[in-house]
Amino acid sequence: MPLVEFTNKGFYVPQADCYVDPEKKVERAIITHGHSDHARKGCGHYFATPLTAIIMDHRYRIKNCTTFDFNEVFELNGVAFSFHPAGHVPGSAQVRISYKGETWVITGDYKRAIDNVCRPFEVVPCDHFVTECTFGLPIYQWKSEEELAEEIKLWWQENRQKKRASLLMGYSLGKAQRLMQMVKEPIGPIYCDPTIYKTNEVLRQAGIDFHPYELYEGLESEMDLSNALIIGSPSAARSEWANSLGDFSSASASGWNQTKKRRLGGPERHFVVSDHADWSELIQTVEETGADNIYVMHGFTETFGQHLRDLGYNAKTVSHRLNQQPK
Ligand SMILES: [Zn+2]
Ligand SMILES: [Zn+2]
Repeated sequence: MPLVEFTNKGFYVPQADCYVDPEKKVERAIITHGHSDHARKGCGHYFATPLTAIIMDHRYRIKNCTTFDFNEVFELNGVAFSFHPAGHVPGSAQVRISYKGETWVITGDYKRAIDNVCRPFEVVPCDHFVTECTFGLPIYQWKSEEELAEEIKLWWQENRQKKRASLLMGYSLGKAQRLMQMVKEPIGPIYCDPTIYKTNEVLRQAGIDFHPYELYEGLESEMDLSNALIIGSPSAARSEWANSLGDFSSASASGWNQTKKRRLGGPERHFVVSDHADWSELIQTVEETGADNIYVMHGFTETFGQHLRDLGYNAKTVSHRLNQQPK
């Protein structure tokens, strides 16, 4: 019996009778992080890091969760499990699974860049490594956090000089907080849309430090936003919420910006900011784990898997999800 099986419900650990990030309702679910393609409602019982548990409660009203800190070992029917930082979004973890001398690591989503919000990724040595490869093509190479911060600060400064608000768009969990904290010394006030504001409040109460920020509800037509940075989710930016911003410049922040065609009427600026590892970081991470058996999932599995085989790894694809853009 293999320690981990790949099933249509997700990663199954038969000896412990539990799943990691199950795609269907199961009795016992170990969750890597709070994004909706990893944490789903309706399971009998959940296991997660304390911050992921708080996020799951906030987003999905999931209550029945037992929490374990990073590096804390818990056993289910003799199998040792532990969470290790994945650096992807607040609370995000890789899951280490060890039994009778065999060790697996399932990454969930991860990034290697160190931001001002998440606990940084830690390499976990293992025999079998299950890695996402959302951006597993050589064209995806990220700039450093410092370079990105400089680009965003310059754009904010230019807008200020033209007396225009700066609307920066990113997903409400992870990307929004990273963007908000990226410029280390803000050059004006920071506002957030209601969803991001509420998420920030939950994270702040859980102990994460943020620059001062305020709620922008989208009704304040008299407000002077000409020197402000406004953090909004892409859906808020497309809604009525954006109507009262006055004169503004908008910018998106996504890894897909590296290759996406620019649309007329879309954002003015496209920052390449991803919460996933780039091509080089994926390869570096595989090397650093010391694993010989690699399972690739999420994204460009074919190209990345073939590259690993060319390097001499025993690499297999375990799922295709190109039809949906993972968060
Ligand atoms: Zn994902
Ligand atoms: Zn994610």
